[in-house]
Amino acid sequence: MSTARRRDTGPELALRRALHAAGLRYRVAYPVPGQRRRTIDVAFTRLRLAVFVDGCFWHGCPEHGTVPRSNAAWWRTKISANQARDRDTDRVLSAFGWSVLRFWEHAPASEAAAIVRDLVRLLRPGLPVYVPASDADALIEEWCRRSHVAGGGADEC
Ligand SMILES: [Zn+2]
Repeated sequence: MSTARRRDTGPELALRRALHAAGLRYRVAYPVPGQRRRTIDVAFTRLRLAVFVDGCFWHGCPEHGTVPRSNAAWWRTKISANQARDRDTDRVLSAFGWSVLRFWEHAPASEAAAIVRDLVRLLRPGLPVYVPASDADALIEEWCRRSHVAGGGADEC
């Protein structure tokens, strides 16, 4: 617990605070099923909703991802490996019936929290009947626009 963890980055804490303020309760650093060394940043276990906050540098954000000039080839390989692992994690979670929501760390916490909150309402057993399909479509569209989604983002939307 003493070492600095990537999950405790500022953007993730900001999202967790916003979610908590919205009355949502979740687990932090919840293990990915069958993957001892991987964890879900913010997990709604009953709904099987996994939320990740991906660092722009480490996960290769198309807007802010940069590669240091020294050892550029090594960094490129490293970041590609991180991205490949992210996609694999998405696949594993999906195979276990989880929904996956990924935000870049540059996404404003309040906007990310609003999307998570809406999705939690959508997924909550018993409530979907109150969400008209048109609202769900709009929500998913917004989700796709503001986040990147398992398997390549905009292409999936
Ligand atoms: Zn970014």
